[in-house]
Amino acid sequence: MGLLTNRAKVLEQKPLTFMESLYLPAILKGMAITFSHMFKKKPTISYPEEQRPFSPVFRGLHVLNRDEYGRENCTACGLCAVACPAEAITMEAAERKESEKHLYREEKYAAKYEINMLRCIFCGLCEEACPKDAIYMSETFAPSNFTRKGFIYSKDELLIPNPVDEKEKYEIAKGKREVQLKNK
Ligand code: SF4
Ligand code: SF4
Repeated sequence: MGLLTNRAKVLEQKPLTFMESLYLPAILKGMAITFSHMFKKKPTISYPEEQRPFSPVFRGLHVLNRDEYGRENCTACGLCAVACPAEAITMEAAERKESEKHLYREEKYAAKYEINMLRCIFCGLCEEACPKDAIYMSETFAPSNFTRKGFIYSKDELLIPNPVDEKEKYEIAKGKREVQLKNK
């Protein structure tokens, strides 16, 4: 058979020595390697009881933000949708009524806001484009789902809990990331 390169090596099959034929040294050597791993730091963790800390630049599930009075920050300007390279964001704008001033911070708000997580590449451009601090990416993963429709997140699913009525849930949803970014 012709060889394509000269890197091939012909292996000689030498007969085993007496010690090698006992297999004992090889077994002991293998056990010593196994034993030495018992004192090394474990690379695995007991998830979900134990969780690794997120990187400060981790970009997880999107959150639609509210101000300290619980009003929605989003003014439906559409800049996030324009900045999105995956065309994952859709929205419908509406005019705020006089009676809705406690619900929406600006005169316009997003009556409908959707993100298609199957399209999203978690690039963070929507967060950067937003002039109203209305959208940011949290430390949460997008949970798995069985249907494609389940990955289209509506405004209700994206909105952060109200800091006035649901203070505890709001703090959990906000996570540590916002604090870390502010301290940079
Ligand atoms: S993270 Fe990137 S891809 Fe995902 S919605 Fe925002 S801009 Fe679009
Ligand atoms: S999230 Fe920000 S950029 Fe997107 S529509 Fe709302 S205010 Fe505009």
